[in-house]
Amino acid sequence: MKLHPINECIEVAKSWREQGLDTYQQFLCAKCGEKNTVEEKNTFFAEGRCGDCGYVTNLRKTGCNYMASWSSEPEKRHGKAKA
Ligand SMILES: [Zn+2]
Repeated sequence: MKLHPINECIEVAKSWREQGLDTYQQFLCAKCGEKNTVEEKNTFFAEGRCGDCGYVTNLRKTGCNYMASWSSEPEKRHGKAKA
């Protein structure tokens, strides 16, 4: 996974948000190398706790990545049957 400066990620997330996409921060644990995805959407943290080993990585130093998913409620995603 490629890592980008956190400010760059936030800028990209903003522009995606305007297009209706939710962004999830991702980072690599500096200790064990595990890939982590933050649960809160559209939120970028300066530090990330590894879900595997619990180590806290300074994301301002290491950088982070992001993934996007379409912002929609489950019922909207499936659509409603037309009468
Ligand atoms: Zn870890």
